[in-house]
Amino acid sequence: MKNDLRRRRLRALAAILVLISLPPVAALAVQWRLYRQNLTVPLPAPARRASAGPATRMLVIAPHPDDETLGCGGTIASAVQHGNAVTVVFITNGDGSRTTAAREFKRLKPAPEKLIAMGRMRQKEALTALAELGVLRDAAHFLGYPDGGLDELWRSHWSADRPYRSPFTQTDRSPYANSPTLEARYCGEALLGDLRELIARVRPTDVYVTDPHDTHGDHWATHAFTVAAFESLGQRPRLWTYLIHRDGGLAESLKFSWPAPIGLHPTEPLAPPKHLLETNTRWQQVQLSHELVEQKLRAIHAYRSQLGPYEKFMVSFARKNELFGTPAPPNTNASLIVDAAHDGFARDIVPAGDVKSVDVHPDGSNALRVELTLFGKPSARVRYEVEFTAITRGEMAREVMVLPSTALLSDEHTLRATLPLDRFREMDSALVVARTQLGKIKLDQTALRVVRWRSAS
Ligand SMILES: [Zn+2]
Repeated sequence: MKNDLRRRRLRALAAILVLISLPPVAALAVQWRLYRQNLTVPLPAPARRASAGPATRMLVIAPHPDDETLGCGGTIASAVQHGNAVTVVFITNGDGSRTTAAREFKRLKPAPEKLIAMGRMRQKEALTALAELGVLRDAAHFLGYPDGGLDELWRSHWSADRPYRSPFTQTDRSPYANSPTLEARYCGEALLGDLRELIARVRPTDVYVTDPHDTHGDHWATHAFTVAAFESLGQRPRLWTYLIHRDGGLAESLKFSWPAPIGLHPTEPLAPPKHLLETNTRWQQVQLSHELVEQKLRAIHAYRSQLGPYEKFMVSFARKNELFGTPAPPNTNASLIVDAAHDGFARDIVPAGDVKSVDVHPDGSNALRVELTLFGKPSARVRYEVEFTAITRGEMAREVMVLPSTALLSDEHTLRATLPLDRFREMDSALVVARTQLGKIKLDQTALRVVRWRSAS
């Protein structure tokens, strides 16, 4: 009798264990499939080199110390050798990595002061890495915004009266003495202001920033803030985007479906992830000499604190080329946003939340018609959102449209809505992004794209 009960309990326990392990195993399977696909992708066309000399002014914008080196270390070193002016700006000091701080300070739960100390340490590592690439100390700027919070700043903490509080530094303003705005509030407005000021000073001809298809929230938002800053200043430099993270959606711990193959392969080239070939980003590659690859690898090794947990991932970027994306020119007949399909676990199991494209067209003189096309049929349980940030003579206004799953076109995959433009008269341009969400689970976030209204009409 007692044995029987024990057996039944054991069986129930085994069933629960199987149920718990199913989602991670399924996520791992999707991740593995994506990784395998990424191993055999053709290389893109070569990029045209910027001209030598100081008239080419390169601005590299990195969400965290190390992204600039991983994404464009070779290009930075080459630009310095060609006499170009190079400026590097770090949006955060990377003070949100508990894993790194725990290793560094031998604490299971590092206190906020320890995380801030790590932010200072990562600044030093960044200066060492940049010195390896030939960039002077004065050309590096650390804005001091919250690691892990940039997406929140963009979406829900825009103004200084609603600052974001970092769960890592436990503060709502920059705790670093070298932030250009002392005690800068953790809010979108302040970050945009700092970026605009820097851009106005540097007047870059070529801007290197994280790609809008990057699945790390800080990387996505760094792209968004950069585009907003340039649009609001009316400046149109050449924009080059670099990709660091493509993950599998739900499974945070299984981040690395790209670069493929992972690990140190300095004599091999790097190709973009397969799914990003379907989007309206055009990929190009810059060839690096053997010496430049060696130089880049030395710069990667300057990030000692990051190498501990992420070495295999980081050295994957020391390849004989670097990849850069440019958005397809706006206002062509193609969709404004073309998104990748089946490119992650969450989107794979909920095709109703997998965005295919977004189209925006004028509807009469006073409204916009917005169409959101999905791979699956829309579901009442998924939230569909199109965010519209209008820029008018440097001022910004935001409208988030929630599209009901019943506002369907006859193809049964496209949701439609109309946005009245009374608020946005005289609009110069608008930044558009679509998101889908199931309860608290983020399913999809598309690339952010620009519609230039004046030039379209
Ligand atoms: Zn990063």
